[in-house]
Amino acid sequence: MFFWASPDTHHPIRHAPLALLDKIRSQAAFPGCTREILPGAAASTKIPGMGCMGRGVTVIGGGLAGVEAAWQAARHGVPVRLYEMRPAVMTPAHSTDRLGELVCSNSLKSDQPETAPWLLKEELRRLGSLSMRVADEARVPAGHALAVDREEFSRRLTAAVEAEPGITVVREEVRELPPPPAQASSANSAPDEAAGVTVVASGPLTSPALAASIAEFAGSENLYFYDAISPIVAASSLDTAKLSAASRYGKGGRDYLNAFLSKEEYLSFYDALIRAESAPLRDFEEPRFFEGCLPVEELARRGIDTLRFGPMKPVGLDDPRTGRRAYAAVQLRLENQMADSYNLVGFQNHLKFPEQRRVFRMIPGLEGAEFLRFGQIHRNSYIHAPRLLGTTLQAKARPDLFFAGQLCGCEGYVEAVATGLLAGANAARVARGLQPATPPEATALGSIARYLAAPQGDFQPANITFGLMTGAPAEILAIRDKKERRRAQTRHALDTLRRWMDAPP
Ligand SMILES: Cc1cc2nc3c(=O)[nH]c(=O)nc-3n(C[C@H](O)[C@H](O)[C@H](O)COP(=O)(O)OP(=O)(O)OC[C@H]3O[C@@H](n4cnc5c(N)ncnc54)[C@H](O)[C@@H]3O)c2cc1C
Repeated sequence: MFFWASPDTHHPIRHAPLALLDKIRSQAAFPGCTREILPGAAASTKIPGMGCMGRGVTVIGGGLAGVEAAWQAARHGVPVRLYEMRPAVMTPAHSTDRLGELVCSNSLKSDQPETAPWLLKEELRRLGSLSMRVADEARVPAGHALAVDREEFSRRLTAAVEAEPGITVVREEVRELPPPPAQASSANSAPDEAAGVTVVASGPLTSPALAASIAEFAGSENLYFYDAISPIVAASSLDTAKLSAASRYGKGGRDYLNAFLSKEEYLSFYDALIRAESAPLRDFEEPRFFEGCLPVEELARRGIDTLRFGPMKPVGLDDPRTGRRAYAAVQLRLENQMADSYNLVGFQNHLKFPEQRRVFRMIPGLEGAEFLRFGQIHRNSYIHAPRLLGTTLQAKARPDLFFAGQLCGCEGYVEAVATGLLAGANAARVARGLQPATPPEATALGSIARYLAAPQGDFQPANITFGLMTGAPAEILAIRDKKERRRAQTRHALDTLRRWMDAPP
């Protein structure tokens, strides 16, 4: 066991009393110090001139990536300061002061074995992810998706982080990136003000001051585009006589409610949707939608049938009114364990609120729907990772800086956790004077990291897919049967991860 092994059982520092952690902190604060904090780390992985930078790891942002980064760094025996600006400064999407708040859907995507989203989650579980453990504890029924009770999820994450002796949570906005170590140890800056190694995980809604500082560091324009979030309706306001409880193809129980539309109903709905009035854009922002999360009205404008091949696809669902496949369907997914609200799956949009109420109430069963949350438009900031980062998520120009989460150019909750885990563990390694590392390309986590660092002109944030995973042996990639190929690919990925965890990188 070497890099990502379960230090909960193997790691003396993880259970060290605070006095010992303080001692480590003070010993780690001096440049040039070569003290090895973890037993078992290979000497050959030491970086000359690095190590013991500042006083451990600073994480900026207590969202999905930042929480996981802080947890992993602490597990690796390095003291962590986790900065979260809420509740003093809120973002346009967050509504609580909790760490790891889910701002939109409550789904962490498929947990069906041998899918790419499952593989990523499974790797994270094996790597000791706090967020995956908590997600499993807070799960609500959702077919083969891993959906969570969002309140329970963030409550448990916050409690776990606050109880971790190696992490100090600081409720403050960080307005600029810490200066590079050379500047930090200059005459004007006392050694104990040095941030050590920093993980920037301030998310798609990074505060403007910090975004300006990141843009200055990145040396290029701050890239941004729009996503839109889906509406949530109250369960009590739905006409359940018109809705049927079933999952597609009868898989995964009855965790969804389905609304069915005949051809005539669909055409009227379609017409109303494409004519509905959008919320105005602010003039300094140019709309650039992420292809995987297009607003439903944008998708509809691409053609009369695009919705029937997208969020309104009827496949695998029979309309109980006719006993046959409907012309179009809308799925409503349970939002929480109390089953008092549902999410309109794939109905992210940026229509004016009264327009959303008018148009979505045309869906059979939703005529009296009470909207607990309307779809909304939001800013989404990310850096051009291929130009700025290596596969370890370390900035090429500054070895004391890592980026994680949506800001580093991945897309999705679990991808944010995954990059947080990688950046946090690597920041701890660098703080200890060790080389950062990345799991092999055959794994889902290794594939995401390589995607982020691979040279590409028009860089777009990505979710984990098999398309990203090109590291399996040729004989596996050549298997013709898709199901069989994916089975072999996921098995190979998990075996590879096991071997990598057991051996020095
Ligand atoms: C509105 C919206 C809806 C989304 N919906 C989905 C979805 O349904 N499914 C999905 O998979 N993904 C979704 N995403 C994309 C992405 O998965 C989430 O944004 C995810 O939360 C990203 O995790 P993160 O840790 O990078 O950022 P966040 O979870 O946003 O965490 C960043 C944290 O940093 C804090 N912060 C920001 N600036 C500072 C600062 N200067 N100092 C200190 N703290 C700071 C913020 O308050 C926040 O807590 C959505 C994104 C947005 C913006």
